[in-house]
Amino acid sequence: MFCRSCRYGIEGLNAGRCPECGLPFDPTDPTTYVDWRYKPQALIGFGAAFGVFGLANLGFLGALQPSYGYSQSAAFLALVGIGVIFGTIAAILAGWHRWWLVRLPLLLVGVFCIWAGLFLASDHGYRVWQRGPNPPDEAFADTAPLGFLLAGWIPGGIFVGLVFGVALLLFRWQRARRNAGSVAR
Ligand SMILES: [Zn+2]
Repeated sequence: MFCRSCRYGIEGLNAGRCPECGLPFDPTDPTTYVDWRYKPQALIGFGAAFGVFGLANLGFLGALQPSYGYSQSAAFLALVGIGVIFGTIAAILAGWHRWWLVRLPLLLVGVFCIWAGLFLASDHGYRVWQRGPNPPDEAFADTAPLGFLLAGWIPGGIFVGLVFGVALLLFRWQRARRNAGSVAR
């Protein structure tokens, strides 16, 4: 028997509130507790991570199509933007969920989204630049994509870590307030 909300072990306890998170349960009512702990959590985590991954890839694919009117920065910002949006979504979902089996795949996908966004943005940015009229020599010295390919996970990790931390604190604060409210009532 585990708490429905936090999966704390409540086997053998009398009906009442979960000692860990305060959610009420009753051993005589099977809808108030769960009898599994990890497996569905991992499934939820990988499912959510896979969903974010798929949507991010659709976004990247879409953002690789337009010509951007030869504007290197427009192409760059569009692709970075998509990476940041999905990295943020993944980090917030990870912060919202309490379980590391769910958080970890989401965090990894979040870092991947930003990494892929940076790499695709700089690579595609150079291509758009090269297609323009009279591209300067610098447009062909594309060392930036290689740099992002090798080191893009560093800014990705920092960004996702920060968003995750903020989301974690906000959701924790919100839950603490809700728990305090239900105890007072
Ligand atoms: Zn609990």
